[in-house]
Amino acid sequence: MNKEKGNLSIHSENIFPIIKKWLYSDQDIFIRELISNACDAITKVKRLSSLGEADLGDNTDFQVKVVLNKTAKTLKFIDNGIGMTEEEVKKYINQIAFSGAEDFLKTYKDKGDVDQIIGHFGLGFYSSFMVAETVEINTLSYKQDALAVKWRCDGRTEFEMENSSKDERGTEITLYLGEEGGDFLNEYTVKSTIEKYCSFMPYPIYFEVADKEPEKDKDGNLIVEEPEVLNDVTPLYSKQPSSCTDEEYKEFYRKTFRDFQEPLFWIHLNMDYPFNLKGILYFPKLNTEFDTMEGRIKLYNNQVFVADNIKEVIPEFLLLLKGVIDCPDLPLNVSRSFLQNDGFTRKISDYITKKVADKLNSLFKSEREGFEKFWEDISPFIKYGVLKDSKFYEKVASIILYKTTNQQYITLEEYLEKYGEKLDKQVYYVSDDVQQAQYIKMLQEYELEAVILDHNIDSAFISHMEMKKKDIGFKRVDSNITELMKDKDQATDGESSTKEAETLTKVFSKTLGKEDCKVQLESLKSQDVAGMIILSEESRRMQEMMKRYSMGGLNM
Ligand code: ADP
Ligand code: MG
Repeated sequence: MNKEKGNLSIHSENIFPIIKKWLYSDQDIFIRELISNACDAITKVKRLSSLGEADLGDNTDFQVKVVLNKTAKTLKFIDNGIGMTEEEVKKYINQIAFSGAEDFLKTYKDKGDVDQIIGHFGLGFYSSFMVAETVEINTLSYKQDALAVKWRCDGRTEFEMENSSKDERGTEITLYLGEEGGDFLNEYTVKSTIEKYCSFMPYPIYFEVADKEPEKDKDGNLIVEEPEVLNDVTPLYSKQPSSCTDEEYKEFYRKTFRDFQEPLFWIHLNMDYPFNLKGILYFPKLNTEFDTMEGRIKLYNNQVFVADNIKEVIPEFLLLLKGVIDCPDLPLNVSRSFLQNDGFTRKISDYITKKVADKLNSLFKSEREGFEKFWEDISPFIKYGVLKDSKFYEKVASIILYKTTNQQYITLEEYLEKYGEKLDKQVYYVSDDVQQAQYIKMLQEYELEAVILDHNIDSAFISHMEMKKKDIGFKRVDSNITELMKDKDQATDGESSTKEAETLTKVFSKTLGKEDCKVQLESLKSQDVAGMIILSEESRRMQEMMKRYSMGGLNM
């Protein structure tokens, strides 16, 4: 056969069902796509007007309106953006995967800032067929003398086009909801979906129910409901940090996360180079129930919601925080496996980690008292980060605080400076300050103190610290009897002592039902502690490790 060249052809009747089924995993995403197209259309016409290429007339109150009609089973998306001519409908709508956004960017790239345009792939519009049996477009272009166009398609591959009587610039898209889109006949579903994806979109979005029974007040007068804007067109994170007040940060937190507990503190991220990234990360107050310790980081692309908690972009330990991150350089629709292998996402992730560590360091240095106050709330998060991310460990290791049995907060360095010599670089800890109170008292007699490590992350954490620091060790107060605790004036090696030890061994072995129980006779200096049941630190760690594994890993 001779060598041949040619173009692959795609049959739309085959590709259509694939788009409907597989393009997006979440059905509700059509709302995001149609509203973002509407916003793009507004951005475009504003852009043209500022270049002197479009006459806006008095149609300048830019907005997107979503109208539900339960009786007619329609959902409409109305904008007063750029509109489309007949040619444009043919080009951008009839040709699937031909993106007008891409086209616009190419034409106007050199004429200023068009980064705001959301669309890219030329597929978003077709997501409407995931819920609609029939889709209708009614549109009038901004162009002088343009004729309004009506386009209609029932989900098969034929469409109808004709002129219409639309006399206002912009586009109205009507979805005739089919069985698959039945959920969206519910106004709360529509409203909450708009709030999920569009809460920071750049133009006001209104939602109306067209066939709502008018409500009357007690005197029988009609209650006129003012249309309500669902979104925040200039979210706080997009502003300059220097112009935001504490109250604004708190308000933004309350609204975005519906969390009425005040956050402890926050970090405003604002970066232009080498990539674009804005956002705010909040350190929430820890819930007393550890299992509810779950953060939420919402990822946006140019004010359009992409997803929650994307581990590939946000380091896993940071997912315990709450925040929003807007990164226009990240593609809107990409698979997670792509993100995983992308060097760019790693850079974003490293940047965020660094910013968090910087903030913690600056709090430690300039507001130590405040830092100590937050410590109980933020320490599980920091320890988790230390375990998960070695770069984070490097940056925060020296500012990790330990609460002592004297109720003070000190760093490892400070502890070792104070007691290191006496304790041969060992750190004494208690894991339950009530149960181990007598040992705490005992240490106090020797002018020593222990640190309290009572969170269930602590045993993994101290093992990690020992591995990193090498020459230090953590020992629970009852893991050994050290020279320091012994009363050397009292002899314990005589014959009677040996006998006594033997008798006690028998008693303990029998009581505990353990053959390998050992009794060691020592005279303790302490008046309060008669005897100690000792479990070596190694055995304890081993036991704890087994417990963790049997519980299914690190349970926070
Ligand atoms: P994308 O947004 O990625 O370009 P879409 O499938 O979402 O792809 O939209 C295809 C094209 O159709 C858009 O680029 C735009 O040119 C046109 N379009 C869609 N919705 C509107 C609208 N509301 N107003 C004007 N043009 C629109
Ligand atoms: Mg689009």
